[in-house]
Amino acid sequence: MDLTGRTIAITGASSGIGEATARACAAAGAAVALGARRADRIEALAARIEDEGGRAVALTTDVADERQARAFVEHAYEQLGGLDGLVNNAGVMLLGPVAGAPTDEWRRMIDVNLLGLLYCTHAALPVMLEAGRGDVVNVSSVAGRIAAAGSAVYNMTKWGVGAFSEALRQEVTKAGIRVTIIEPGAVSTELVDQNRPEIQDAIRSRFGDMRPLEADDIARAVVYALSQPSHVSVNEILVRPSDQTR
Ligand code: NDP
Repeated sequence: MDLTGRTIAITGASSGIGEATARACAAAGAAVALGARRADRIEALAARIEDEGGRAVALTTDVADERQARAFVEHAYEQLGGLDGLVNNAGVMLLGPVAGAPTDEWRRMIDVNLLGLLYCTHAALPVMLEAGRGDVVNVSSVAGRIAAAGSAVYNMTKWGVGAFSEALRQEVTKAGIRVTIIEPGAVSTELVDQNRPEIQDAIRSRFGDMRPLEADDIARAVVYALSQPSHVSVNEILVRPSDQTR
């Protein structure tokens, strides 16, 4: 899986799947731009990638802010000397029943999972269209295919990622831009920690003693899609832990 010479921007690179994807892309030879709000995390990751002989720039970004999302893509392009891949990975998962839910949690999910992805994609498309090539990789979820009680708004956002990605693919595929949806099952990351304590307990007891995936397991799927020859467009990859039933 060779990405030598490629320039790839990754949102949500400060932890979990985004961090693992950045390291995997850099190890495969790509120069990477790291976007997230926690500057200390992405700066440390960029330093680590550079120490290992790779090329990385840290760009502190809140993708929910359209200006910051646009600046992330523009600075990635300028500082990497091009942009031929965008991995829209930043996301939040705030679960719980619809009745009585704190509606600010809904806004956060819609702002990050949907609008953040849209802003970054919108900013990257002109560059990719002009180059006549590019990859947009959107991290959705099993929750983008199977809805469940307690996950309604998260389901809605990830369903949206899937619908948007397929429509976008039809718009840009003949212009040389490939669109890929990655749909992880349960992965051991910080994602659950953002939930209210009682919800965290409910999520953990739902998965019981299931062995979750590691972030690296998903990073390999992203690099697999990115490293295909140009005539091959991997549109969708669903990866679950072997003992995850739904
Ligand atoms: P983490 O919580 O470890 O990572 C989430 C990342 O998103 C962090 O880097 C965080 O950075 C970033 N992020 C959140 N809000 C913003 C924002 N406003 N602007 C910029 N970056 C932001 O979780 P995962 O690695 O698990 O999640 C990555 C993706 O994978 C998400 O889209 C998630 O929905 C998806 N996914 C995860 C699964 C799992 O089981 N873990 C299963 C299926 C899908 P920071 O806080 O520094 O801004």
